[in-house]
Amino acid sequence: MRRVLLVTGASAGIGAATARLAATRDYDLVLNYNSDHAGAETVAEAARNAGARTLICQADVGDPDQITRMYHQIDAEFGRLDALVNNAGVVDRSARVTEFSHDRLRRMFDINVIGAMLVAKEAVLRMQAGGKGGAIVNISSAAARLGSAGQYVDYAASKAAIDTFTKGLSDELARENIRVNSVRPGLIETDIHAKGGEPGRAKRLAATVPMQRTGSADEVADAILYLLSDAASYVTGSILEVTGGR
Ligand code: NAP
Repeated sequence: MRRVLLVTGASAGIGAATARLAATRDYDLVLNYNSDHAGAETVAEAARNAGARTLICQADVGDPDQITRMYHQIDAEFGRLDALVNNAGVVDRSARVTEFSHDRLRRMFDINVIGAMLVAKEAVLRMQAGGKGGAIVNISSAAARLGSAGQYVDYAASKAAIDTFTKGLSDELARENIRVNSVRPGLIETDIHAKGGEPGRAKRLAATVPMQRTGSADEVADAILYLLSDAASYVTGSILEVTGGR
């Protein structure tokens, strides 16, 4: 039987690559996005062509009411949820901590941390139903380890929160057949760098990577699909670095 997977932020980048790959691996898909409807439609079409049943859900994960509405749609369409990729995330313009505003910090933590926790909470409630279990992959960042000084320390701290959340949640759920892991991408070629005001950021920093190159969204998707799969049946509470060694 095909498993039902929710990917947040599935309209672009790593989320889109993950959804496309999952469709080829016997998952039906809930594709969440915030603003890029055309992007979500394109991914849905590719997923349907690969045999997946798809549901597109617009919801800003920084808004709890919109998360609730998304889960009502999921319940109505599928009546179950087996897997979650907690991927939606944002960066902001490069700035020093002394330049941060309260509004900037609220947005960063509402989307990257509180949103991810609430999305996971609702997923867990559905995985617990009937004791069937499931798997969650939270998308962190190498920034959690590097700190991102002078760029976005707030973003790095939000991703460190995701890693701690992964450890705690995985321990809470380890006896309930629900595995929780995180993936830490490094410098990956997606539009997130342009959204942070520096389209060439990944290329500029490629020389700092031991492998001397940036990574692709598809390479991150492969790691995510591994952690979701039964091949990772004894893996929980882990952080998988997909950074070319950086
Ligand atoms: P991306 O290309 O900018 O895609 C981000 C996705 O998240 C889009 O689908 C976007 O949807 C969605 N999103 C943003 N805010 C949202 C919100 N409030 N509610 C729902 N969806 C929202 O970024 P990416 O590079 O693929 O990043 C995906 C994840 O990987 C993020 O958590 C990011 O922090 C992490 N990451 C990326 C890199 C990298 O180098 N690319 C490195 C480390 C970690 P809309 O466009 O529809 O709004």
